[in-house]
Amino acid sequence: MTVNLLDFGAEGLAGFCAEIGEKPFRARQLLRWIHQSGEADFAGMSDLAKVLREKLAATAVVEPPRVISDHIASDGTRKWLLSVDAGNGIEMVFIPETNRGTLCISSQVGCALACTFCSTGRQGFNRNLTVAEIIGQLWWANKALGEESGSEETESPIPINKQEAIQSAGRRRAISNVVFMGMGEPLANFENVVTALDLMLDDHAYGLSRRRVTVSTSGLVPAMDRLRERCPVALAVSLHAPNDALRDQLVPINRKYPIKELLAACQRYLQSAPRDFITFEYVMLDGVNDSVSHARELVQLVRDTPCKFNLIPFNPFPHSGYQRSSPEAVRLFRDVLMQAGLVTTVRKTRGDDIAAACGQLAGQVLDKTRRVQRSGYEAMQAAR
Ligand code: SAH
Ligand code: SF4
Repeated sequence: MTVNLLDFGAEGLAGFCAEIGEKPFRARQLLRWIHQSGEADFAGMSDLAKVLREKLAATAVVEPPRVISDHIASDGTRKWLLSVDAGNGIEMVFIPETNRGTLCISSQVGCALACTFCSTGRQGFNRNLTVAEIIGQLWWANKALGEESGSEETESPIPINKQEAIQSAGRRRAISNVVFMGMGEPLANFENVVTALDLMLDDHAYGLSRRRVTVSTSGLVPAMDRLRERCPVALAVSLHAPNDALRDQLVPINRKYPIKELLAACQRYLQSAPRDFITFEYVMLDGVNDSVSHARELVQLVRDTPCKFNLIPFNPFPHSGYQRSSPEAVRLFRDVLMQAGLVTTVRKTRGDDIAAACGQLAGQVLDKTRRVQRSGYEAMQAAR
């Protein structure tokens, strides 16, 4: 049976090498070829013996998801649609900024958690992404952006060999940050996400710092605890409401893990977190959760939790039933938080001309929950 080496973390790759009778250092070589050089063809792995290359070609592949489309918006934001199997697609987006480049990736095809303002949630759920499909997103983007920045540098001396070329491209680090803010709930696909995280952090693979890899969760409390033990990266929590009554409506998983439990889990997470704060995401929905009194309630709610706020202007989609808060409402809301000493940023709406904002990565979902056939209201009732 052919195995996809993109499905393996460092340990899995070591196990695979042992199985085919190869020494452990081969696993590190393979990691570097696959993830740092973006090499998918064993024949191109020049420092592996020919016999080994042939053995690999007979038993394994390096198979990322297929790229279906690739668009660049006028502000430099770039969005790819990847096909993960017949009928299912996921989107990822790269957001370049002056001092960093952030890749926003997906963890599932669709999402079962049915937050009422989320287009992924409305599309229903199909399946978890495999490790190859999760890390494959970074693999593609790294390759595409490496090539792009490489081609701009026409005056640099020609590198001696390919490895060196890749390393010098890597030093430019087009992608400095990765956020799980595309499609899906990462903590609902725990094992695969953690293996992908391990690869992101591995110096032989992508070598990103823990502080620059962010998992965003709607609040799966037990999985937050497991993440803290297994791989504590930066954590963003989708709060969206200052009390249970409102959060129950917007984020249905709140009925299972209410705010008090969620905040307790945040406190526990902070003991191991690479940053000394939790980022709370708060989608700004006109007339729903965006009043000054909501902001005041929020200040009280988080007074014992070291945190920062990221206010996200709602990204509208057809039949959502919600509207984006006015810039004035967002400003007033932010002022209340800031005056209480809470660092608050307002997410810029980027790449609007290609609908590339995080939290609005639509993809293509063959819904297994048949949620889309029901109206939004019915879906909300069913999730209760
Ligand atoms: N499932 C995870 C991560 C993916 S969504 C989570 O919920 O945290 C990433 C962020 O985008 C979350 O904060 C989510 O609530 C937000 N989001 C979803 N739909 C949105 C929309 N239409 N407009 C703005 N933000 C949205
Ligand atoms: Fe799922 Fe996150 Fe969307 Fe909620 S906001 S439905 S958890 S992807």
